[in-house]
Amino acid sequence: MAADGADAAFDDEVEPTVTISEYMDGIEAEELEADLVLGGDDGDECTYGAGYLKRQAVFSCLTCVPDGAAGVCTACCLACHDGHEVVELWTKRNFRCDCGNSKFGGHLCKLNPEKDPENSANSYNQNFKGAYCTCSRPYPDPEAKEQVEMIQCCICEDWFHEDHIGLDSAEKIPCDEEGEALYEDFICHKCSPVCSFLKLYPDTIWASSKQTSASEAVTADSNGMEGGYSGHANTEKNENGARVDHQSAENTSVENNCTKDIAASEKSNLGDNSAGNCKLGLDINTKSDDSEKIMPFFLSKGWRETLCRCGACTNFYEQRGIAHLTDKEDSIEEYEKMAKEKRQKKLEQQEGAEANFINSLNHVQKIEILSGISDMKNEFQSFLESRDPSKPVTSDDVQSIFKNLAKKKQRLS
Ligand SMILES: [Zn+2]
Ligand SMILES: [Zn+2]
Ligand SMILES: [Zn+2]
Ligand SMILES: [Zn+2]
Ligand SMILES: [Zn+2]
Ligand SMILES: [Zn+2]
Repeated sequence: MAADGADAAFDDEVEPTVTISEYMDGIEAEELEADLVLGGDDGDECTYGAGYLKRQAVFSCLTCVPDGAAGVCTACCLACHDGHEVVELWTKRNFRCDCGNSKFGGHLCKLNPEKDPENSANSYNQNFKGAYCTCSRPYPDPEAKEQVEMIQCCICEDWFHEDHIGLDSAEKIPCDEEGEALYEDFICHKCSPVCSFLKLYPDTIWASSKQTSASEAVTADSNGMEGGYSGHANTEKNENGARVDHQSAENTSVENNCTKDIAASEKSNLGDNSAGNCKLGLDINTKSDDSEKIMPFFLSKGWRETLCRCGACTNFYEQRGIAHLTDKEDSIEEYEKMAKEKRQKKLEQQEGAEANFINSLNHVQKIEILSGISDMKNEFQSFLESRDPSKPVTSDDVQSIFKNLAKKKQRLS
């Protein structure tokens, strides 16, 4: 689960048994992971002033608000709730920092104490109490033998254990041989009825274990999805992102098979553009077949771009509270892209600052720094030559390198 990333943001414990290059790679990866979760936010300013952010890292403090009906930003988590029992929630959409407001019983925010009593547009699911999934367990779960990977629903934003999302044993989560996810978004079985209209779209919208991309399929055809869809051909194989269980198909009544055929013929009408400029070419309010088993959805890469943005469809999304699906900045992919860009800028600024620092020194200072670096190199070299290469470098080793350097410096001065 991605909460690991949030751990990495605040966890500076280092395993003593790693090689130096492993250690440096590890730091680099942890920093990147932390930056991705925190969205490249430095965490030194409360985000309250920026209003409801499209997406940000959110934390819940159970010391201050035991019922979990509040959330705070990264900066507040660090500055105002240090040492408290904090739940890391990874990212949430459309959230405004609650730190120190009426829910905090007099515990003031150190960064921005001027807040409205409540943020009425915030929503708080069970995660804010430290509970996840249909089983409402904590993460990590102290009673579990091993921590099972969890996946986040892009509608309710709750996290789910892979074996608690209502899949039969024969149905698989789309992933490649290495276990890497082949889907961009997951919609849990509780939220999938709200999104049943997705079944009106071509099958390229569903992730399968073979890699498919909805956006590629659409851009390959300049008329959007028209012509890219061959009616009945694929409906049997993949109705909702998972294989249709043939045994249960045999057991379904004739009646059910009829409704299934109607749904299929509705889908095949996608091509004729009878409803104006709507991509679907039919009323999105068309009821899809509710008699089908409720399943979680796995959506393919770029699926959000294929969603129709016509007036009727947009209204429909708003009524169902899922308008965020057509907002590019809502997606985790976009959030992480922006985080990477911010990180790149930060690294460039750091490099610039180092170059400026060196340039600002006079000649003698430069020589001193350079000879210091060369002393460091020499000390390190002799350390490497003297040690047993099969043994890992410990923090004691590193400390002794610096002690030797300090001794040399004292002898010289
Ligand atoms: Zn805050
Ligand atoms: Zn607190
Ligand atoms: Zn605060
Ligand atoms: Zn569970
Ligand atoms: Zn959900
Ligand atoms: Zn439309």
